[in-house]
Amino acid sequence: MSTVKTTLAHGRDHLAIPGPSVMPERVLNAMHRPAPNIYTGDLVDITASVKSDLNKLAGNSGEVGIYIGNGHAAWEASLVNFFSRGDKVLFLVNGRFGNAWAQAAQGLKIDVDVMDFGTEQTVHATEVQARLVADKQHAYKAVLMVHTDTASSASNDIRGIRAAIDAAGHPALYFIDSIASFACESFNMDSMGVDVMITASQKGLMTPPGLAMVFVGAKVWDYQKQADLVTPYWNLHSRVYPRMFPDNFNGTPPTHHLYGLREALNMLLEEGIANTWRRHEVQANAVWAAVNAWGQSGGITFNIKDESMRSKAVTMITTPKEIGGKLQQYCNEHFGVVIGVALVGTASGTTTNDAFRIGHMGHLNPSMLLGTIGTVEAALEALGVERGKGAVEAATSVFAQATK
Ligand SMILES: *Cc1c(COP(=O)(O)O)cnc(C)c1O
Repeated sequence: MSTVKTTLAHGRDHLAIPGPSVMPERVLNAMHRPAPNIYTGDLVDITASVKSDLNKLAGNSGEVGIYIGNGHAAWEASLVNFFSRGDKVLFLVNGRFGNAWAQAAQGLKIDVDVMDFGTEQTVHATEVQARLVADKQHAYKAVLMVHTDTASSASNDIRGIRAAIDAAGHPALYFIDSIASFACESFNMDSMGVDVMITASQKGLMTPPGLAMVFVGAKVWDYQKQADLVTPYWNLHSRVYPRMFPDNFNGTPPTHHLYGLREALNMLLEEGIANTWRRHEVQANAVWAAVNAWGQSGGITFNIKDESMRSKAVTMITTPKEIGGKLQQYCNEHFGVVIGVALVGTASGTTTNDAFRIGHMGHLNPSMLLGTIGTVEAALEALGVERGKGAVEAATSVFAQATK
């Protein structure tokens, strides 16, 4: 054994977590410029075209407003614009993000009911329908759900829950958090019957954290007029229907982020959103093939056992005791690859130290994903973790099959 510690953490740092995702050179280059004119010209045009293209990608015939903010800002914007103190809402939760959104609502003194489906499965439509049928007075003003819960890596059936709301004959508005899934997993606001959808710039949209988006259908403005939580800065109406350009952002526009997002949208439109979704399926399949191989012996497995419930953007993987945390640290220290820490425990008794997550969203190619999988393999080997062999080979053949 050499006494000199070897670190192989050179080359490009790689963040293999579920957001912020990899920032494409095209996006970074588009942002690398002097401060632009904020009164006329490019920025005014870009803001209009960005909004229009965001709606196109979302399948939204309604409107979108943009805030300078992260996902938490999108949560708060989605709540203050449509509710008053004491309004009753129903959150459908299956991971940390759904709970955190519900807590944000509680913090605003909205009257929150939570149906918690744990951290190992998707939301059940039949139970939701029964709950809404029982709400004979139609007290719930809205049903709110995360599409992909980034912590558990379960991906909910948006159409299925819409059908449950309709079958119950309930008039509640339907809110979706698509922060981890937008531009990764199939979504269409109009045809899915979603009234309010939120997302942010730093995941499937491949742009640095800093832009929060609230998409709305036509129905919501009546609610907005009655909401007593809405404040001047957070008011969505002026952002959607600006009288002057600065109204778009209630002040100075997020200049460089807009150039970055414009370029990211160009990339998505060039690829075609259906192709983007298909690519994410392949990316997910490659990671799943590796996890299946590891799982052949020892204790590595999927948090979400049922493949049809799994996200195409992120996968939570449970490990033998303490290995998840050690693995994350090892990959970072020795190999310069940051894999995701776990954010939730499970009913089966695993804690956040006994799991890790791989983000497979956004601007990735096989060399990057195989690099991540191979790096995890190397760390497992170094840590002496018992596992099935052939993870890299299994992922490799997914890429070969997908392009043959
Ligand atoms: C990332 C994420 C958020 C929070 O975003 P922040 O930018 O960290 O505030 C919310 N919801 C989901 C589903 C996410 O993946």
